[in-house]
Order: sequence, then structure tokens, then C-alpha cells
Amino acid sequence: MAYDKSIAAFEEAYKVIPGGVDSPVRAFNGVEGTPPFIQKGEGGYLFDIDGNRYIDFVQSWGPLIFGHADADIQNAVMEAVKNGLSFGAPTLVETELATEITTLFDTIDKVRFVSSGTEAVMSAIRLARGFTGRDNILKFTGCYHGHSDSLLVQAGSGLATFGAPSSPGVPADLTKHTLLATYNDIEEVKQCFADAKGDIACVIIEPIAGNMGLVPATEDFLQELRAICDAHGTLLIFDEVMSGFRASLKGAQGITTVKPDMVTLGKVIGAGMPVGAFGARAEIMAHLSPEGPVYQAGTLSGNPVAMAAGLASLKKLKANPSIYVELGNKAKRLMDGFQKAANAAEIPMVTDVRGSMFGFFFSEIPVRNFTDAQQNDTSMFAKFHKGMLDRGVYLACSSFEAGFISTATTNEMIDEAIKAAYETLKELTA
Ligand code: PMP
Repeated sequence: MAYDKSIAAFEEAYKVIPGGVDSPVRAFNGVEGTPPFIQKGEGGYLFDIDGNRYIDFVQSWGPLIFGHADADIQNAVMEAVKNGLSFGAPTLVETELATEITTLFDTIDKVRFVSSGTEAVMSAIRLARGFTGRDNILKFTGCYHGHSDSLLVQAGSGLATFGAPSSPGVPADLTKHTLLATYNDIEEVKQCFADAKGDIACVIIEPIAGNMGLVPATEDFLQELRAICDAHGTLLIFDEVMSGFRASLKGAQGITTVKPDMVTLGKVIGAGMPVGAFGARAEIMAHLSPEGPVYQAGTLSGNPVAMAAGLASLKKLKANPSIYVELGNKAKRLMDGFQKAANAAEIPMVTDVRGSMFGFFFSEIPVRNFTDAQQNDTSMFAKFHKGMLDRGVYLACSSFEAGFISTATTNEMIDEAIKAAYETLKELTA
């Protein structure tokens, strides 16, 4: 495949945009080659400016559950645009989308819309702190909750420690209230609660982690987490920005019996437009401004065009919940195919599927947490990624990301991707 125009475009972008991209992972830092510059998307396909066509397993990192340029969603957006782009005043569509969400999630009585997942989580944390009157929060190593200061604390190996910032520009003072524990390790959680003498406002978790590759929390772990939170008056927040409407119609909450106190959403609820949301039971949400004292706001929050896209997407999902069976079968077909291709090439691989989310690691060990994930063969992944791209298969450009199936992804596309995996892995072991 030729990438000449993308290579030139990347050089131009580099001159005026740091790293040539507006979000770091897009720069292909961990893999080989230059990121294709995208011209357009059509259903399950992406087309770059060199005219290459790819089967897209990224789908804008999750939001496009109906694939690119879905006609119903586009029509809803076009209709909304005719009335204007933003008013900074209440519109009916916000209440409609909020009602769809509150009827789907029995953990959400009220929901506030924002413009990104980062904002959703940042605001939820503030509300949890305001509600409980406590400062400390607990997060898990390898879980990503957006780039707000107090959450930009990542891998700290070993036992629970108060977090050090993982980016320059984040003062240690702003992360000193962020405690870290290992995902799926309840003993470390207990240690954190003991260290902080139970003084923890909230525990935030991706119940199905998609930011260290796909790594689900076990049911036992979530149940024990719930019990510890209950025992200490700590709020449990499920960050479902990625898993919401992806793992099932109710996100991870359609799979686990554990109920969070607060939920953050994003991606699918905007169908590709910038939307995030956070919700909880009414008693908690009543603390939010203007009902309560915890301040949170946004000029473009509840933007009518973005709300129209989200509403159209959610209505389609609710009208046809069986699509999750279909999406799950397709994700499984892809992962079974990759696994067989790896077996044939005698390359160790582990795979997982949760609804329309999938993940694979070049690893000999099952992956339960970030430490396990970090042992995956990233150089093998980089070569695999390039081989697949050259064969027209667009995978996430890091082994620490989940992949996504859309309803526009056909079995034929999946079989083509599996064939590409056989060829690539064979080439890599030749
Ligand atoms: N939480 C989770 C679980 C996410 O996956 C992401 C984004 N990948 C975020 C929060 C942040 O969302 P955004 O990129 O829209 O700010």
C-alpha cells in the first residue's frame, strides 16, 4: 500500500500541531509507519487520503457502534443543524436523551451532560468529594479515566501508595489524594482503605477495562469492592465511558450484578459527536449546582446537535437490543480467528471478548491487571499492526487498547481480517 500523501500530510501537521496529532495515541508512536490521514468512513470501512481502504476495528475508539456515516444518525444531525448549532439554553432533546439513559440504567435517576469522557469523570469525582466531604479517591493501575489532573496517575507497582503524577505539569499536591491499587486485587484495596483510615470519597473503576487492552474485572472482585465501599460510606463509580452501550445495552451493568453509586458515560452516547455524561441516584445528583453547592458547568454542554446524534443512536440500540448478540458473535469470530492464526504460527496469544469489545495480547499468561498486560510482546504487536495495516485492516495502534465491532462490520470483513492475520503472522515467523 502507498502512504505517500499521508506521510506528506503528517509532516505538514507536525509543523503546526504538537506531534502532528490532537491526541497522542494517534501518532503511531508504539507501532511502525505513519498514521493514515482519513478522508472518510463508510460503514465498516475507512478510506485514507491515498485512496487506501481499511476494515475499521477502531470505530473512532468506540463511539460508532453503527459504523461510519450511519444514515439515521446523520439525518438526525442534519435536522438538528438546520435549527442552529448551539443556544446555551435548555432544549427538549437533552431531556429526551436523559430520559433514555435513566430508563436504561436503574443506577441513574439524574444525569448531567458534558462534552467529553474526561469532563464526565472529572465532574463525577468532584461531586463524589462534595457529597462525602472527603478528599481521597482510589483508582486502579492501568485504568484510564481521562486526562484531568487528579486522575493522571498510573502504574505504581507494588502495594498501595499515594499517587505520583505521571505527567509533568501536574503538581504532586494535586495527586496526593489519589490512591492506587492493582486491578482485580482486593487485598491492595483493603490496604488502601486501612492506610487512609477509610477516609476515601470514591473508588473509580473501569468495570471492564479497555485502556490496558481488554481486561475485565472479575465478579468476585467487584462484589468485594462494593462491600468495602458500603462498609466505609465510600461511593463506587463505574467509569463506563467505553463499556457503556458497548459491553451490552446497559454496559458492564448488564453483565455484573454489582451496582455502582455513580456512572460516567461517553463515546456511544454521542455517536461520534463530543458528548460525555455522569449520573447517579437523585440524592447524590442533588448536590450538583444549581440544585446543590458542587459547581460544574459547560458552554457547549448538552449541545443540541450532539444530543440529536446520541438520541438517534440510543433509540436504534433500544429498538434492536439483539444486535449485542450479533456484535458479540462477530467479536468472538474475529478473536477465535486471530487465536487460530497465532496457534498456527506458534506465537503465544490470549484473547477476550465483552459484547462488541475485543482484545488480544501476544502473551503466554492470562492478563488480569496492568502488570500482566505490560508483559505482552509489544514489538511483536508493532510488527503485526503494520502487517495488518498493509493488508487493509485498521487495528488500534497500541497493544494497550481494546478493539471494537460495529453493526456495519460484516462476517466477510472479519474473515478477510483473519486471513490477513494468518498471512502477517506467517510472514513474521518465516
Ligand atoms: N474513561 C474511559 C474509560 C475512557 O476509555 C476514556 C477515553 N478513552 C475516558 C474516560 C476519557 O474520555 P475522553 O477521551 O472523551 O475525554
